[in-house]
Amino acid sequence: MNERPLELNDHSLPRLRAAFAERGLAPFRAEQVAGWVYRQGVEDPAQMSNLPGELRAELGDAIRLRALELESLACSQDGTRKGVLRARDGARVESVWIPEEHRSTLCVSTQVGCSLRCSFCATGALGLTRNLTTAEIVDQVCRMREALPEGGALSNVVFMGMGEPLLNLPAVLEAVRILIDPKAFGFAPRRVTVSTAGVVPRIPTLLRAAPVNLAVSLHATTDAVRDELVPLNRRFPLRELLGTLAALPELSRRRPVFFEYTLMEGVNDAPEDAERLVKLLAQIPSKVNLIPMNPHPDAPYRPPAPEVADRFLAVLARARLTATLRRPRGADIAAACGQLALRGGGDDALRSR
Ligand code: SAH
Repeated sequence: MNERPLELNDHSLPRLRAAFAERGLAPFRAEQVAGWVYRQGVEDPAQMSNLPGELRAELGDAIRLRALELESLACSQDGTRKGVLRARDGARVESVWIPEEHRSTLCVSTQVGCSLRCSFCATGALGLTRNLTTAEIVDQVCRMREALPEGGALSNVVFMGMGEPLLNLPAVLEAVRILIDPKAFGFAPRRVTVSTAGVVPRIPTLLRAAPVNLAVSLHATTDAVRDELVPLNRRFPLRELLGTLAALPELSRRRPVFFEYTLMEGVNDAPEDAERLVKLLAQIPSKVNLIPMNPHPDAPYRPPAPEVADRFLAVLARARLTATLRRPRGADIAAACGQLALRGGGDDALRSR
């Protein structure tokens, strides 16, 4: 075999089988190797004991793994863990593992930085460096899985880290296929969520390609406010975004859109905002996640007082709109929503590996 090494994590199973065949290897060997890598966490071909010895030796040169290395790991007092992962070209991204009582979620990045420049988000202030490859998205799961505490599980994956997933859609879709393929990671599709700030024309493409959950970062109930918070709204205003969502055949009460709504004091937290939100979402199967603004040095916004957030939630509840008010997680290590900007989390929280 004298071809370039095959970047294994870049390919969903059907493509991996084809790539093996092209190299003169039996396609079922692709499935065996994927089983080792994704299900067992074994990346060294020498340890893949159900392969013939000759093939194990051959694969050592033929395949490439570990598109990322874990550079550092920060552990929050609440159990949240943030990894800083370094690509081969030196680019860095962050992934966050969030343990909860009934599930444990990994939040993965899709781009190095982000081009959208949402005014309240720390990642937006970085600007975009480049898209991640499929292998770099998938490898966040492999590397972070190795960095879990004893007994720590990983039941859900959310594409809510750095970057806008729908502006890197082909790589994201291929990563989703690897996550949900029973022969690869085997996550149930409903345990995978892709979040978008509202790249409207790509939303139907995403849902047609994979039966994952859709999350939409809404944050405002008027175009005037949303233009400020999420500048992408100037290209795809609320009417277009919500009109497209209302027409999606894939959505239902059992499979709603998860709307993220970051509460910012004096900006979008008034009872009138809550009333408008109820009306805007009336035609869409919805669940609303209210997130009190996580403050950081790049944005002037603050979270509302707890009673203001409770009042907002109460308006939604009275209208029978399903909503939750999220406690910020990992704030002490700058791992909370919108804080991913490679700032670490203080030296005591950082454990070098
Ligand atoms: N670009 C995609 C994926 C990022 S998801 C998207 O916008 O959906 C990250 C979520 O955290 C988004 O809903 C984002 O708007 C929200 N967020 C960003 N900065 C925040 C902050 N400082 N406090 C709370 N939430 C924030």
